[in-house]
Amino acid sequence: MNLTHKAISLPPDQAVRNIPFSSLSTSGDEFFYIEKAILSGHIIGDGYYTKLCQSWLKEYLGVEKVLLTHSCTAALEMAFILADIQPGDEVIMPSYTFVSTANSVVLRGGIPIFVDIRPDTLNLDETKIRSAITSKTKAIAPVHYAGLGCEMSEISKIAHQYDLRVVEDAAQGICSKYDDQPVGSFGNLAAFSFHGTKNIVSGEGGALAINDPSLVDRAEIIWEKGTNRSQFFRGDVDKYTWVDVGSSYLPSDILAAFLWSQLQQADNITQRRLSIWNRYHQAFEELERNQIVQRPVVPKICQHNGHIYYLLVDNLKTRSQVLSVLKQNGVQATFHYVPLHSAPAGRRYGRQSGELVVTEDICDRIIRLPLFANMTFEEADFIISLVYNSLL
Ligand SMILES: *Cc1c(COP(=O)(O)O)cnc(C)c1O
Repeated sequence: MNLTHKAISLPPDQAVRNIPFSSLSTSGDEFFYIEKAILSGHIIGDGYYTKLCQSWLKEYLGVEKVLLTHSCTAALEMAFILADIQPGDEVIMPSYTFVSTANSVVLRGGIPIFVDIRPDTLNLDETKIRSAITSKTKAIAPVHYAGLGCEMSEISKIAHQYDLRVVEDAAQGICSKYDDQPVGSFGNLAAFSFHGTKNIVSGEGGALAINDPSLVDRAEIIWEKGTNRSQFFRGDVDKYTWVDVGSSYLPSDILAAFLWSQLQQADNITQRRLSIWNRYHQAFEELERNQIVQRPVVPKICQHNGHIYYLLVDNLKTRSQVLSVLKQNGVQATFHYVPLHSAPAGRRYGRQSGELVVTEDICDRIIRLPLFANMTFEEADFIISLVYNSLL
């Protein structure tokens, strides 16, 4: 029953020859909690483990309320219903992000307005936001890429000045801080992902953080298919009925039980990821000094969570060469987003504001290296030497 690191790691002769991009890190408590959930007879949503996870996240973030969802995508959909996005309303976001940031706006009839990213952090360039604002602008959706906090002080200032809502896409941001405050606790709303590729996982999973007291009641209603079920079960109302739009956004309590065991080791997972991240970072210092690669930049104000380690190489050709050497040696490295403004649906539903020079420049040059909590230093060193070999 005890899924320790040893039990699921590969035999030593294969360990350096088959390194996945990411790998599940379990504590061993997962079966225990899942069994308890099953034995309790309560495996639908909003159960015992859902409540435990929600209070853990609420306390950690210091927000009004947290609701678990079956994905970050679901949390984003809820967020843009709550942000009251109407047909034709505009939401400012980076083009360099996952489709769900934009899709959740488009589903409301809203228009994603794509703005360029900063060359250092690859996060929304806060200096380009003002020029993207029109009379239709309703919200800003900063995406904390690689778990690195966006410039939230400036973004919050702009939002306040123009009376815009802030919806943080904190899918990659669990256990990251900006200015000593958790990422995902700055906006009116924030969406987290516990998808299998993220730091803290439940296979599929997510959470919506609500940091605006006036949105809490409606959030519960949207979460529960547009009914006032939560209020009814608390005894706040005497009938349980359809009161608003909504959908089924709750995960089963079995998934919440899995997530609970992950949250218990959130610190440990983050520390282990950071130790691999730092090993890569030190090792590639020399390549950067010789202007062969660019390493990620972490502003002093950011405390990140080691979600992604990436390198920027010279051009597409070099990238293909590095990726192919890694692949030949059993290492799964990869690139990242196709910028949304250039994707078929992005062109149909969105609009760009200004030139997206940095976005277009880095998307062909980025390489993401394998990074997971139970990765060994030997595996990291093997990857480091392959990268050196492929570039020198
Ligand atoms: C992973 C991710 C999502 C989607 O998360 P799901 O939980 O799979 O829905 C959304 N936005 C960003 C930036 C992501 O990295």
